[in-house]
Amino acid sequence: MPDLLGHVAVARLALELAGVAAVLERGEPASEDARLACFYLGSILPDLVTRPFHILFPGCTAYVEVLDSPFCLALWALMLSQAFAGPLRRAALRCLSAGIATHVVIDLVQRHIAGGYMLLFPFSVATPTWGLLWPEQSVGLSLALAAVALVVEIAARRRRRPATGTDAAVHS
Ligand SMILES: [Zn+2]
Repeated sequence: MPDLLGHVAVARLALELAGVAAVLERGEPASEDARLACFYLGSILPDLVTRPFHILFPGCTAYVEVLDSPFCLALWALMLSQAFAGPLRRAALRCLSAGIATHVVIDLVQRHIAGGYMLLFPFSVATPTWGLLWPEQSVGLSLALAAVALVVEIAARRRRRPATGTDAAVHS
């Protein structure tokens, strides 16, 4: 999927619908904000580490393609998690990795006109894809996913909001 909006929307939906939240909450104590920040960062990280090169230096695309292979992304996650203090490091690594996983799965859905994702690097430079979507189709899909994710987010916030005195009076 070509845009960050679509990846964040999918990450938000995964958090709500696929039990990813339980994975993020496992293990070491870390604030919800920190976990979510790492998760969402992970969901766009593959594009963050490659798109600037694609845009600024189109001639070197073939050389940086490997940066968003799962192997290199694991190294990125390891490196970024080192920015956290000891006990939080593993939580950061897990949340970054979960976000990266949502990105990789969604990217596999798309067909590629050129290049692709080296899923098995360094063992193979093949670029497998499920080929379910053309790149231009994913733009409309991203907007639809963002709308659904927004509805899910609003519903989740309403669920979490503590009942006020007025609400309690209305519901009694
Ligand atoms: Zn991507």
